[in-house]
Amino acid sequence: MLTVTGASRTFGELEALRAVDLEVAAGERVALLGPNGSGKSTLLRIVCGRDRPTTGTVVFDGEPMTEDDVRVRARVAVVGDALGCYPDLTVRQHLELVAVAHGVPEDRIGELLRDHRLADRADSLPSALSSGQLQAMLLASALLRPRDLLVLDEPEQRLDPRARGRLADVLRAESDNGTAVLFATHHRELARVAHRVIVMEDGALVADGSPDEVLAEADA
Ligand code: ATP
Ligand code: MG
Repeated sequence: MLTVTGASRTFGELEALRAVDLEVAAGERVALLGPNGSGKSTLLRIVCGRDRPTTGTVVFDGEPMTEDDVRVRARVAVVGDALGCYPDLTVRQHLELVAVAHGVPEDRIGELLRDHRLADRADSLPSALSSGQLQAMLLASALLRPRDLLVLDEPEQRLDPRARGRLADVLRAESDNGTAVLFATHHRELARVAHRVIVMEDGALVADGSPDEVLAEADA
């Protein structure tokens, strides 16, 4: 469903992304691993339309993500945006906002709040949340909206082991309804949830295979 072809991104002299080719099928889970600065977030930003590649294309089911077309971008839900919350809206209102914006029923909100251990924080403002609760709210918001692709940048950040387990369950469940999942992580256990693990280095994809293949090699 997602096809990235020859995507490069330069910042001045720096080549943050070097002619990356990437395909992600509907229902497929793909993890991106790689050291700090290897280009994971740059690639994710391009895939979700928050940034444009210097060269190359991003295409969803044959439809290119062009500069002036919002339809393709509308298919992507994103977790990991530092600007993703409103200081004056409660947790529940954040979810209500997503429901209104995307025209989806609000009756799933209670269930999402419970699933992500936010029920007793539903009336809290973001400033009163712990960092893990804030991350859980951003995840719940992304799961409420319609999506063909879910993009997550280090979603395990600030989550305790149990919340990380719930995140892994969520990523697995996404495939069941055909959503493609692409996530960057520094957590090898979370990478094991993926069907495919891709390793980035210096703006390029340097390994691509099953978690067993790629993680064993990375250990060697
Ligand atoms: P991390 O694991 O630390 O999140 P990453 O793999 O996500 O790293 P990127 O954020 O994609 O790495 O950065 C790739 C390279 O591009 C880095 O060298 C970074 O400094 C550079 N870079 C990213 N965004 C910009 C920008 N807006 N302006 C200049 N350089 C940038
Ligand atoms: Mg990053």
